[in-house]
Amino acid sequence: MGKPKFAFYWCASCGGCEETVLDLNEKILEVVDKVDIVFWPVALDFKRKDIEVMKEGEIDVAFINGAIRTSEQEEMAKLLREKAKLVVAFGACAQLGGIPGLANFWVRSDIFDRIYKKVPTVANPEGVVPQQVVEMDGYKLTLPEFYDTVKTLDQTIPVDYYLPGCPPPPDLIMNAIETILKGELPEKGTVLAPDKALCDTCPRNETKPEKLSIKDIKRPHEVIIDPEKCFLAQGIICLGPVTRSGCGERCINANMPCRGCMGPTSEVRDQGAKAVSFIASILGVEDEEKLSEEEVQKLIDKIVDPAGTFYRFSLPASLLRRRRK
Ligand code: SF4
Ligand code: SF4
Repeated sequence: MGKPKFAFYWCASCGGCEETVLDLNEKILEVVDKVDIVFWPVALDFKRKDIEVMKEGEIDVAFINGAIRTSEQEEMAKLLREKAKLVVAFGACAQLGGIPGLANFWVRSDIFDRIYKKVPTVANPEGVVPQQVVEMDGYKLTLPEFYDTVKTLDQTIPVDYYLPGCPPPPDLIMNAIETILKGELPEKGTVLAPDKALCDTCPRNETKPEKLSIKDIKRPHEVIIDPEKCFLAQGIICLGPVTRSGCGERCINANMPCRGCMGPTSEVRDQGAKAVSFIASILGVEDEEKLSEEEVQKLIDKIVDPAGTFYRFSLPASLLRRRRK
């Protein structure tokens, strides 16, 4: 029997998930020793037809990163699903929609207007925007359809496992690969990361007061941040209480609050809603000295971009999914 066959593909994402595969460093050599990479267009010259000629189930595992934003990404995801025994949603964008999913606060025409006409650095006097089909000099040029709504991978094809994070941490990737190679896979649908909140593993947890109360909200650039103290206790919004652990507390260790890229634990359906409810419950609540409604409103107004703060990585997977048109 030959080596297991792995495929990697990139949909709507920044490319960081592809980079993180290289962050495996010398461990990548162990991986290529044990598996055959049969498709990885970002690194090697593979073409779509290489997949099309494969038999159903010929690929053992397809790691697909990125959300689904265009018809080409949807077609590729469906093709890989057909050819792979297992599909892993690789990274926050594939799992939850990620940063590209924030585009669901707008519609396609708003996005094209902004990008191709209104951005100050754009020079486009004729207001040309991408067309799906253009005929020129007897040739027909086509582009994939740019959908109105960004979807998660599992809103497009059935997904077997999820590797969370923006990008997924190399040790979780390595664990997932080893688990797959040993055939010790958990139940389908499992997120391949610890199922407890980041606060539980955070080195600042002991400085988080039992009764939290925020009387002022500050953004990280507005204060000198105490590198030992819980961010929430300093009035800086940290999504650690509503975010899955397993990232190695990357941002916290760099003295920045958690922004939620590992997604929610299995107990939380909507990470953004949970974050809103959590923050609302600690705004100005302090024993006898409660803030007035007006003072609470002033605090809320200090959250500059509430939708982006609470749904930064998870809007397409949330109960809202997108702004209503
Ligand atoms: S809120 Fe943030 S800083 Fe505080 S304990 Fe949780 S993860 Fe750590
Ligand atoms: S601290 Fe939060 S935002 Fe940073 S890597 Fe970890 S889960 Fe992601």
